[in-house]
Amino acid sequence: MKKILEINNLKKIYHTPKEEILALDNISFSVNEGEFISIVGPSGCGKSTILSILSNLLNKSSGEINLKNNYIMAYMLQNDSLLPFRTVLDNCLIGLEIQHLLNEENKNYVINLLNTYGLGEFINKYPNSLSGGMRQRCALIRTLAVRPDILLLDEATSALDYQSRLAISDDIYNIIKKEGKTAIMVTHDIAQAISMSDKVIVLSKRPATIKSIYEINLTNKSTPTENRKANNFNYYYDMIWSDLDVNI
Ligand code: ADP
Repeated sequence: MKKILEINNLKKIYHTPKEEILALDNISFSVNEGEFISIVGPSGCGKSTILSILSNLLNKSSGEINLKNNYIMAYMLQNDSLLPFRTVLDNCLIGLEIQHLLNEENKNYVINLLNTYGLGEFINKYPNSLSGGMRQRCALIRTLAVRPDILLLDEATSALDYQSRLAISDDIYNIIKKEGKTAIMVTHDIAQAISMSDKVIVLSKRPATIKSIYEINLTNKSTPTENRKANNFNYYYDMIWSDLDVNI
């Protein structure tokens, strides 16, 4: 498999007027093309900080990030943040507009994605006419519009109830696989991570260091919802659960 992203000894210190906060220390991992990777860890440990650094929203303090061939990474935010006054299509075109990449070809690419993934009849409607699942799909298509090689997903489904989360995890997973993308998702939901991923990276509590990395080889790999029924699903769940420093 082709390695497309390598992170070595990543460190992040936040400087506040009162103190320095070490958020990430000695984070190293690599990502192969087409892989789905999840990063799990206790709340507040530094998961989103990793994605913010990868997407250049934040500077690292030290360490190396090597991305092959000028590949593009695009960040899908925690809430869908669709603008209520723009149509579904115009919401999906916003990244292209900001990057001055909006042309006929790219617009048609987005229309094609909307049609392929069940939002064709909503192209000229506003986000308030979409269900929760459709909103997530719309946000994903907005992220795909700039044709990224790697998608960064930040707890993309955390705002939803359990049933919707399962359905949308399947939805997002299928679209990412069909479009042949690589994905890095942060989540605090161990079951979601195992059910969607080829690899799960477990972080310690803050400062986040890597506790363990699991290659997930489920018997009968299928959709994320079906994967939860695999014989060895609980094996991974128990291992990851015991690695997590959860204080309640
Ligand atoms: P997670 O995504 O795992 O919940 P974050 O990456 O959002 O965690 O944050 C990790 C830690 O970094 C937090 O516990 C917080 O203390 C600190 N932190 C995050 N953002 C800032 C900031 N802008 N300034 C200072 N500290 C921050």
